[in-house]
Amino acid sequence: KEGLTKTRKTLTEKIEKVIIGYADIDDDLLDDLEDALIQADVGVKTSLKLMDDVRAGIKKKEINTPEDLKPFLIKRITEMLNEGNDETRIAQSGPTVILVIGVNGVGKTTTIGKLGQYYKEQGKSVMFAAADTFRAAAIDQLEIWGQRVGVPVIKHEEGSDPAAVVFDAVKAATARKIDMLIIDTAGRLHNKANLMTELNKIQRVIKREIADAPHETLLVLDATTGQNAINQAELFTKAAPISGLVLTKLDGTAKGGVVIGLKAELSMPVKWIGVGEGIDDLRPFIANDFAAALFD
Ligand code: GDP
Repeated sequence: KEGLTKTRKTLTEKIEKVIIGYADIDDDLLDDLEDALIQADVGVKTSLKLMDDVRAGIKKKEINTPEDLKPFLIKRITEMLNEGNDETRIAQSGPTVILVIGVNGVGKTTTIGKLGQYYKEQGKSVMFAAADTFRAAAIDQLEIWGQRVGVPVIKHEEGSDPAAVVFDAVKAATARKIDMLIIDTAGRLHNKANLMTELNKIQRVIKREIADAPHETLLVLDATTGQNAINQAELFTKAAPISGLVLTKLDGTAKGGVVIGLKAELSMPVKWIGVGEGIDDLRPFIANDFAAALFD
């Protein structure tokens, strides 16, 4: 529930305001409702889909008065959020390899730190790999998180081959019987061809060592960028197979409705949400809880 205050305010209040303004359901109400959903960053496509559902609900007499609209929308949005909501894939034996990708600044390194903390609290051993070798600052930052969480960090010098870092990390994690290996990568979207080549190479190197790995490829997105997050996700799905999303910075934004759009438009599971800068500010995404927090 924490972290969603602003989104809850925009989404719920916008819907309620529309509903209160009308005694009966008519076209004006439906137009206003559509606008409210779009303004709450649910996304145009998803808003139109929801409105189709509303119209169908009216036809089937599931919706008879404006008051029926809110519970109907909550139910439908909860269903949308629940679609294809799978768990993190864990290795049968050997390290579970989690590859973390995303554009610089979205909160990738912070998310890796928080994930490390989460798994350590579950009693698992964790290792980080600094495969964003393009920025010395990225390597330093991961190192700082490693110290904070108490996790070893595999790194090479700035400018070295990311795939070589990954190779070393997989070897080390296997030798030391590490449970969770979490890999940081570079996120230079301005060079899409390079990004694609590099991510493919990293995935190949991992697969060569552990056949069913990476077990997860998580794309980190910044919720405050709203619809831009959806565009980024579309771009990245072309670069690498992605198994789930992490949506960060939900605490500071009213654009949390973007979760609904991401799920409905990309049918990709949101696995984690970031709700602050602190070490414990990461939550597994649970659709029913998220929906309940949105409309509380
Ligand atoms: P990277 O470049 O993708 O590795 O991004 P960083 O992990 O360095 O994060 C960029 C900034 O976003 C930092 O100031 C983080 O503290 C901040 N940040 C990351 N996740 C969250 C979050 O869930 N909530 C808030 N409020 N800030 C976050």
